[in-house]
Amino acid sequence: MKTVIISNRLPVKIIEENGHYTFIPSEGGLATGLGDVYQSGNSVWIGWPGIDVPEERQQEVTDKLAKLNLYPVFLTQDEINLYYEGFSNEVLWPVFHYLVTYAHYEQSYWDCYQSVNQKFASAALKVLHKKDKIWIQDYQLLLLPGILRSELPQSTIGFFQHIPFPSYEIFRLIPWRDELLNGVLGADLVGFHTYDDVRHFLSTATRLLPVNSSANVLNSNERQIVVEAFPMGIDFDKFSGLTARDEVQKEMEYFRKGKEGLKLILSIDRLDYSKGILERLKALELLLQLHPEYIGKIELYMVVVPSRDTVPQYRDLKEQIDQFVGNLNARYRSINWIPVNYFYRSFPIEVLSALYSAADICLVTPMRDGMNLVSKEYVASRQNNDGVLILSEMAGASKELTDAVIVNPNNVGDIMEAIVLALKMPLEEQQSRMKAMRGIVEKFNVKHWVNNFILRLNEVKDSQQSLL
Ligand code: UDP
Repeated sequence: MKTVIISNRLPVKIIEENGHYTFIPSEGGLATGLGDVYQSGNSVWIGWPGIDVPEERQQEVTDKLAKLNLYPVFLTQDEINLYYEGFSNEVLWPVFHYLVTYAHYEQSYWDCYQSVNQKFASAALKVLHKKDKIWIQDYQLLLLPGILRSELPQSTIGFFQHIPFPSYEIFRLIPWRDELLNGVLGADLVGFHTYDDVRHFLSTATRLLPVNSSANVLNSNERQIVVEAFPMGIDFDKFSGLTARDEVQKEMEYFRKGKEGLKLILSIDRLDYSKGILERLKALELLLQLHPEYIGKIELYMVVVPSRDTVPQYRDLKEQIDQFVGNLNARYRSINWIPVNYFYRSFPIEVLSALYSAADICLVTPMRDGMNLVSKEYVASRQNNDGVLILSEMAGASKELTDAVIVNPNNVGDIMEAIVLALKMPLEEQQSRMKAMRGIVEKFNVKHWVNNFILRLNEVKDSQQSLL
């Protein structure tokens, strides 16, 4: 019996150079956490390899990936446009993050979403055996549990969604809501990051479909589906250990040089309208207006990682950020000081680690976030237990990191006050809060998350069988 993981993307980056393909394993959290699972025995991870591979070279790529226990689903450019960028990122992403006015309910997106989920199912059926355990990841594959269930009625299927699940009033807006829900209900165990997501899913399912719930179990067609919260963790040891490395120490020295008396505030996000980047900048502006004593005393390091910037809404957001930062810096800067150091790029992990280690405050203010790993990475990187995390109450992580300074990301004044509080916080209080948070991030790490989910999936299946 093997474990089959299925996600939109394979945990590998393929680079094509002069007609040669090079495969670089991903270091992302999910890949690390699931490493032991898919790399063990004859287990396998199924997903899109991330690039358009011409048909005549697909066998070659398949053979090379097989050596890494990976199995590709090849997608055409059209499929990427309609299923991934279209339905996943222009319908599900905005609606699930409560930004319903950003959604485009295009029939062509939906048609392709169905056919690509079917394509993933066909690929999976080629490698699946009846008794395998299947773990499907995330919102791009909401229909897949249902398709696989109809093909393999006795199979063990887990589904985990990494983004929020919205309340019924929001979810019901989607034209294809019943089909999507029915897809997810093909699973035996459905997981979300927080208990609120679980509640929303349970109430949405019972209101839209002929199913009933008792506690966290849904009963449909004589099958029971367990819905539970599994807050995802990070590789704590990796982030905690990185700070002592020579490269990181060097980066940090370089980074802090000439800034000895300054308090550094850090923010790191992908470019996304769910991340509250503009509100955060407005809070900084308010701070400089109302507390001019901090002019020349604080600096914001703001990393925005390019993402989806072919989509008009993302391009507009980028322009707004560029303008805001430009204006703010022009207004407040002096010859040797600027309030915002803005980077529109990604960084290698050593630089991220140096930034986490050097920052006195980490400012994480998404409008909505399934979990938010940046907040946990900052905590894991604080070897001396100092530093202050300011965290949005709309991020899943706020349910665990209750010792952060929690803010409403829509309330610019609240964020500003939180920054002032953080700037003034005595070291002792910083340490007691950080210590508590480090304990949580260390214990509930990504390995714990994987083991916990798989354990529950086994238990759920066993209890179903004992009911037969
Ligand atoms: N990250 C990265 N390179 C960068 C900046 C960030 O790989 O230059 C990573 C960061 O370490 C974190 C992830 O991107 O693991 C962001 O995850 P998060 O849950 O905070 O937000 P998401 O982008 O998944 O919405």
